[in-house]
Amino acid sequence: MSSVNYSKESAALLDKEDKLAGFRERFYIPPQTIYMDGNSLGLLSRDSEESIMRVVNEWKKLAITGWLSAKRPWFWFAEEMGVMASQIVGAQPGEVIMTGTTTVNIHALVSSFYRPEGERKKIVADEQNFPSDIYALKGQIKLRGLDPEKELILAKANDNGYLDERKIVELMTPETAIVFLPSVVYHTGQLLDIGFLTEEAHKRGILIGFDCSHSAGTIPHNFDQWGVDFALWCSYKYLNGGPGATAFLYVNKKHFYREPFMTGWFGCLKEKQFEMLNEFIPAPDAGRWQISSPAILSSAPLEGALNITLEAGIENIREKSLKLTSFLSGLIQQRIIPKFEEFRIVTPPEDERRGGHIAIEHPEAVRINEALKARGIVPDLRPPSIIRLAPAALYNTFTEVWKVAENLQEIMEAGEYKLFSGERNPVS
Ligand SMILES: *Cc1c(COP(=O)(O)O)cnc(C)c1O
Repeated sequence: MSSVNYSKESAALLDKEDKLAGFRERFYIPPQTIYMDGNSLGLLSRDSEESIMRVVNEWKKLAITGWLSAKRPWFWFAEEMGVMASQIVGAQPGEVIMTGTTTVNIHALVSSFYRPEGERKKIVADEQNFPSDIYALKGQIKLRGLDPEKELILAKANDNGYLDERKIVELMTPETAIVFLPSVVYHTGQLLDIGFLTEEAHKRGILIGFDCSHSAGTIPHNFDQWGVDFALWCSYKYLNGGPGATAFLYVNKKHFYREPFMTGWFGCLKEKQFEMLNEFIPAPDAGRWQISSPAILSSAPLEGALNITLEAGIENIREKSLKLTSFLSGLIQQRIIPKFEEFRIVTPPEDERRGGHIAIEHPEAVRINEALKARGIVPDLRPPSIIRLAPAALYNTFTEVWKVAENLQEIMEAGEYKLFSGERNPVS
């Protein structure tokens, strides 16, 4: 995009040429707001509202019979959402199931895939992963009577703030049992080379899994082609499934024989589940890692949300998302950084290394974030110094991105952020 000029007119032109522009009106955009926080909580669509209301009405009218007689019977809801989601991650039906929540799914899968044995006891992860992921890994290590200080190896970022895939590979040794990494690092927005890491892990006889919470719904995945062993992701970020919506997990079919250890009755072979046997007869596929009854009310929005994503096409979403983030970083580079040198973009500039958001760093990020909010822009603060801006392909426009840069420049030029206290909210 080097030839792009970063004017308001070119933003308008990009909006005119945008094939996905029509999807915006299917979302509820908070009034008077430029919403740049779709990587923390995606927005409600009319499609999701419809699927929620249908399920509410089914509960009203069908009560218990809804499990089998609802339009989309609740008993198979998780499997059916799994089939839909499999299409956006390069998996086969049966390899993806809608279940649990992100962190619960880490426990459910790592408990099956982490089998410390002999010399192979270590988990390789990275110091930049979401804290909940690290807590879960430590818990899984302790559950085996082992010491996380010894067995959890965290790859460190380079001086430039990025994880270097080759350095992660150096940590894969004959003592490594599994590797567990994010697809996209949640603060810097760096996209890791999943195919390369998987290949290198397998060469060394190591299993590898990914937390794709920050890439699902904005980046196409090729789990089967890459040969990833397992993955999981939340559905309330780019997938727009609603706060705390039910999450997803993927298990490569070559691992269907593995035993779930966080075992529960919804992991049963469905034909046998209601025989209420004390012997656990597992589902033949990823379904066996389900634990409890699916939270139908927290799953209903996913039907509408996945429909929209499939209709738009994940490749088209990625294409627009890259244009949006490249336009945004270009604007910041042109308008902000030359004048305010303390600003730094901490997201990789290369398309193939960038997720769906742009993270900027400034020592006054907390107050700048407040000033942006006072102007109706919803960014995402990662204290102490990072502001993340996530223009979502399904509902944001290039003109909004332009306005964000315009407002940021005005805030900095007027020193407007100094009017704010910098006190932090409990949720940011
Ligand atoms: C959003 C996110 C989570 C959130 O975990 P929950 O269990 O859904 O609360 C965990 N890990 C990563 C990498 C995330 O992006």
